[in-house]
Amino acid sequence: METQPVYKRVLVKLSGEALGGKDGIFDNDRLEAICAQLKRVADLGTEVAVVIGAGNIWRGAYGKGVKRARADQMGMLGTMINCLRMEDALEKSGCSARVMSPVGMNSFAEQYDFRKAISYLESGTVVLFGAGTGIPFVTTDTTVVVRAAEIEADVILMAKN
Ligand code: UDP
Repeated sequence: METQPVYKRVLVKLSGEALGGKDGIFDNDRLEAICAQLKRVADLGTEVAVVIGAGNIWRGAYGKGVKRARADQMGMLGTMINCLRMEDALEKSGCSARVMSPVGMNSFAEQYDFRKAISYLESGTVVLFGAGTGIPFVTTDTTVVVRAAEIEADVILMAKN
């Protein structure tokens, strides 16, 4: 019997710690293993979107003495580092991937637009949502809920710590 995917469109949440820290801020073996799993799911025909945190690099809450809005911007940049690393690993594993950011970073990543994200997903590209929501005082747990609603994901799959 052929395996049929249960979900058509999934949003995976990876905490930064899920990617870290044997080789500097990353654990390269774990990163490769995660990419292989994401590729396997995408190859089944399930559309895969990913939100990545930054706990392996920086969280706003770590910024003692730093203005919170600034510390959160640093956290959002941390999520971009993780997304770019993951995009590179996915592409190397033969999986088409695209980072989108709500914050202008046009030579690094495409401007986030939910219609564009959906069209990438429909074409089988894994979409990585970087820079969180683009606003401070929340975390990537908020991001995941907002993005899931925007892209009309069937399920949120949390892979934390
Ligand atoms: N962040 C933010 N706005 C967002 C998403 C994230 O300001 O919409 C900042 C916030 O400082 C947060 C950090 O980015 O602590 C990293 O995200 P998170 O703590 O969720 O990472 P995780 O715990 O999942 O690794």
